Formats: sequence, structure tokens, C-alpha cells
Amino acid sequence: MRAMKRVLSGIQPTGAIHIGNYLGAIKQWVEIGERLGKDALFCIVDYHALTNPDAYDPERLPQRTFEAALANMAAGLDPEKITLFVQSHVPEHTELSWIFTTQTPVGDLTRMTQYKDKSAKLKSVPAGLLMYPVLQAADILIYKADTVPVGEDQLQHLELTREIARRFNHAFGDTFPEPKALLNPKAPRVPGIDGAAKMSKSVGNTIELLEEPKSIWEKLRAAPTDPARVRRNDPGDPSRCLIFKYHTYFSPPEVQEAVAEGCRTAGIGCVDCKKLLFDRMMEVLGPIQERAAELRQNPEVVEAALEDGARRARAIAQETMHEVRVKIGLYKPY
Ligand code: SF4
Repeated sequence: MRAMKRVLSGIQPTGAIHIGNYLGAIKQWVEIGERLGKDALFCIVDYHALTNPDAYDPERLPQRTFEAALANMAAGLDPEKITLFVQSHVPEHTELSWIFTTQTPVGDLTRMTQYKDKSAKLKSVPAGLLMYPVLQAADILIYKADTVPVGEDQLQHLELTREIARRFNHAFGDTFPEPKALLNPKAPRVPGIDGAAKMSKSVGNTIELLEEPKSIWEKLRAAPTDPARVRRNDPGDPSRCLIFKYHTYFSPPEVQEAVAEGCRTAGIGCVDCKKLLFDRMMEVLGPIQERAAELRQNPEVVEAALEDGARRARAIAQETMHEVRVKIGLYKPY
């Protein structure tokens, strides 16, 4: 990992976290947290959730925000070490976002691929959807973060953040760093349990991190395998099998080798292969689920962690906002 001083990651509270999120992002965040401590900032971006009319539900948002914190803590983000907080608890994000909107050409926003994709599906497009990447820029720049872990699909938004920082610095003097993307080359593109598409909440093909073991097993049991294995003694090709792919995430090399060999020679049946996978999967998910159950019994631990995180995040954000208010010429900036 390259040198970095402060990292900002955003997590949407729009539904249950699945193993694709865990393997693709959360494991990397835990690693970053171990290295950077309090300068690893993890923000549950509840204001962003408001721009998603399909997922936003005012009745459920508080619980989903709490659940996002709980699941990430259970998965290894330690709020004693890192800074974990809720976006709306630091109102300076939206204040800075407004200032950035006054500096950002509308054309820069309408050409964003995600905006085009999402707005094309809506009858009435909320202005917030267009402004979404400006709020993202504020989320990052308010902490003067120099690094942002992102997937390929977020690179365009991060480039816009860099452009917003450049434009502000040019107009008002050097203020913000131009944050760099931290791509995770090891992050797997985890296929969904349907074997057809990437694991995703919107597709509905997930195995959730905190899902009941019985339900996980039911999903594995029904999951597709190599279609060549019609009968028990038909040999198969593990490289064409979703279950083997999952073995590569959860099983040690010797189990992977034994499974691959057994598959090719019809020495192992698909149900037994799935049972092996289930056991290995639960070795990883079991302790996470136990920690989640403990936190659920003690919600005040999660609440206190978020309060403490917001206090620390806000101290940085207020300092940046004071500097910004002075630079843009507000009357008696506080
Ligand atoms: S034995 Fe395992 S790897 Fe081979 S097809 Fe069956 S489930 Fe897939």
C-alpha cells in the first residue's frame, strides 16, 4: 500500500451488507484502519441515501444507519482505533457541499455516467441526484483526505472531486489536497448466488454477512454448479462452477486443491462440496455474527462509538469550514 496520511470511505445505509461488500471493501478498510488509526475515517453517508428513491424510507433509515455501523464494527472496524461516524452528525458536509455547488458547472455534473444511468430510470429526477458527487467531494475534502478507497465505478466521481479541489484552490488560494484513488487489485468481483451477475442488493442475489446460517445453507444448496455434473459420477470442471469460486474466497489452498481434484474425477459430489464450503464460510462469518449479536444486545456501544466518531470528525470539519468561510469572504465567519 502506498503512503497515505488520511483516508475517507463512505458506506451507504441502504440495506444489509453482503459478502461481496465484505470481501471487496470492508476487509481492505480494516487493513487501512490498522495502519492509519484515527486518520482512517469511515462515514455512514445517510444524506446520500436520500437521493435513492427506491431505497430511501424515512421510517427505516435510522435502523439501517445503526445496522450499517453494527455490521461494519462486527466485521472488524474498531471504533477505538478508527473514526466511524454518521454523515448527518457532521453538518459541515452539507455546508461545504453548497459552497462547492456554486463553483461547479452543471455540465460537469450532467456528464457523470452514474447520473445518466440513474436519472434515465426515473420519471422525475431530484436535483440531489445531480448534486450527489458534489456532496461526495465535500465528504472527502472537508477532512482534507489524500486517499479514497474506491471501485472502478467511482473513479469518475473522484476525478470530479479533484477538479472541485483544483477549482477552489485556484479561486481562493491553496486549501484542499487532490485526493488519489486507492484501487484494490485484490478485491474480488464476487458473483451472486444466482451465478449470473455480480453480487448486488439491487439484483437480489446476495448472501448477507449477518444472514442466518440455515438461510445461507438453503441458498448454497440451491445454487448452480457446473452443468456438466448431471449425475453424481459425471466429472466436472471447477473453473465453471460458482461454488468453487466461493471456495477460493473462504477455503484454504489444500481444501481448494482437494475439491478441484474431486470435482474433475467425480470423487466428490456437489452436495458434499457445498457442505465443505458452508463450513468454511461459517468459520469466517460465524465470529462476525457472534460479535454482531453482542453489539445488538448492547446498542449503547454502537451509539457511543458513533457519538465519539462524530465528535472527532466534527473537530476536523469545523476547522476546515472556518478556513473556507474566511477564504470565500463571509461576513464575520465563525
Ligand atoms: S463438485 Fe464442487 S466444484 Fe465441482 S461442480 Fe460440484 S459444486 Fe462445483
